[in-house]
Amino acid sequence: MVLLALFVAAVPPLAGQYENLNPDASSRYLIFLGTSALVLALWAISYNLMLGYTGMVSFAHAAYFGVGAYALALIFKRYQLPFFVALAAAPAVGAIVGLITGLVALRAVRLYFSLLTLAISQLLFSIVFQWYDFTGGDNGISITLPDQLNDYTTLYYFTAAVVVVCLLLMFVIVRSPFGAALLSIRENRDRAASIGINVRAYELAVYTVASLFAGVAGGLFIMYQQQAYPEMLYWTANAQPVVVSLLGGTSTFLGPAVGALIYVALDNAIAKQFPYQFDIILGAIVLGVVLAVPGGISDAPSVFLRLRERFHRGEKAEAPAAESTGEAIRMIDVRKALESEAIQAEAVHSGKMLLRLENLSKRFGGLRAVDDVSLEVRQGDRHAIIGPNGAGKSTLFNLITGRLKPSAGKVTFDGREITGKPPHVIARTGIGRAFQITTIFPKLTVRQNLQYAMLAHGGYTMRPFGVANRMFRNEAQELVEAVGLGPWADLPAGQLSHGDQRAIEIAISLALGSKLVLLDEPTAGMSAYETDKAMELVRRLATERHLTLLFCEHDMAVVFTTARTITVMHQGRVLTAGTPDEIRRNPDVQKVYLGELEEEELGA
Ligand code: ADP
Ligand code: MG
Repeated sequence: MVLLALFVAAVPPLAGQYENLNPDASSRYLIFLGTSALVLALWAISYNLMLGYTGMVSFAHAAYFGVGAYALALIFKRYQLPFFVALAAAPAVGAIVGLITGLVALRAVRLYFSLLTLAISQLLFSIVFQWYDFTGGDNGISITLPDQLNDYTTLYYFTAAVVVVCLLLMFVIVRSPFGAALLSIRENRDRAASIGINVRAYELAVYTVASLFAGVAGGLFIMYQQQAYPEMLYWTANAQPVVVSLLGGTSTFLGPAVGALIYVALDNAIAKQFPYQFDIILGAIVLGVVLAVPGGISDAPSVFLRLRERFHRGEKAEAPAAESTGEAIRMIDVRKALESEAIQAEAVHSGKMLLRLENLSKRFGGLRAVDDVSLEVRQGDRHAIIGPNGAGKSTLFNLITGRLKPSAGKVTFDGREITGKPPHVIARTGIGRAFQITTIFPKLTVRQNLQYAMLAHGGYTMRPFGVANRMFRNEAQELVEAVGLGPWADLPAGQLSHGDQRAIEIAISLALGSKLVLLDEPTAGMSAYETDKAMELVRRLATERHLTLLFCEHDMAVVFTTARTITVMHQGRVLTAGTPDEIRRNPDVQKVYLGELEEEELGA
């Protein structure tokens, strides 16, 4: 930021010097280039709020940039309102158009979202292009600046001031709890919803905010170009912020600004000599940068450091994943856990009803994946659902957590009906889950995984100010240590071993203060050693934190050492339910399911 401010201040004097030394160069032209670099930087950083921070690829961002420029021109020229009113209208109109069209675009996700933005962009372009009487059609619209701003150096400083203020505002936003919610969405939409984030609402919010800043950039653009034209809105114009972001780096806040400077410099250097080959040369450069430094130019120093480190450490360097394996067990005092478990076991039957499913069904076309299932989970219970592959266990979990809407039936949790509610609402009522395929925020650190869950749970993620990484830091650290991952708190979660990622998932549920934790095959894909440790961790946490567990599991040894109640499912229906002893003796169960297994695996 400081560097940027210095750079901004340095351009006009340098340009003046340059003119003195080199009579061919015009300082006016250099300052013009400086202005365009600043505007491009603002536009690209606003685009990167979506691309880099939220993981959304929009083809309509140029349209809001154009809308901002036209808004200023039309209000100033056509309606003869004061210039600063027109300037203030640029972001306002950009945001309003962004909000309305964003509502349409966000009917869809990912690729389909991108396609909808493409359609919106073409629609806005056509309006501007064809509404000749109002917008001037393909002639565009030109303005003359008021006298105070008509000097190019003054205009440069004015632009710089507006850009710096906007960048500061965006910087505050990306560091805030709101920014944390955006990062969680980028990392994993499903997981974000299951920590209680209303993904669509946040996407719409960031889309609108990005349109607002694009509107500012558009307003500044027309001030130095003194001309707006329909091509500004054309969908191919989006290539500019995308290229600039990729060039500079999407993972750092100022990356796109660095990209913008390089872009303008290149444009100036190449386009004069090879006007027709500019796109090809630029394409080759971008490709080279993306291949050599995937994080963009602004990531180059860290790539260099990493290379140097590897060079120095040579073979000694080892993936942290291998070290982290198995740490969890060292923290566990098994005997203590078992003692308090014995005391708790008594309490289950008197515990109050926490979760009740009544005649729950889910059909996929003709297939009854879940068929008229009723079951009850009492507070403090450890309830296992077993059954062969395809029995409907995962589907049942998806019905409970709101990922799927039931075809029929009712789900009551903690005295409240939650049937068919969206996942983020259900997460907030106190149901945490670990997915069958481990689902965490891989690029966030282990601690951030938990911190952001706590922020979402506490309802802080709507705040666009404050520093997310400083909030709940100690609480998250404590929890990281409780699940035995203390030494890896600052590593990206995706670098940990499979077993430890499971531990993070469970810790996320704890961070959400979940009363009920759903585990879908918690030990799938783990070695016997990892399985033992993971389940010891689960049992210990359940005991210490008075959790209720509902889990499904293939490994019968795990089921019979952990469960206090077992429900057997087969072909979508409940076959029977009871205590582990009852299930073990039930002849139907043995026939359908346990018959396939070895006697000793039952632990009998
Ligand atoms: P389990 O977790 O017990 O192995 P699932 O709940 O994953 O079983 O699946 C139950 C049945 O529902 C399977 O036959 C599966 O193929 C089917 N199924 C699951 N999800 C879908 C879906 N989204 N669309 C269609 N069929 C599905
Ligand atoms: Mg399953």
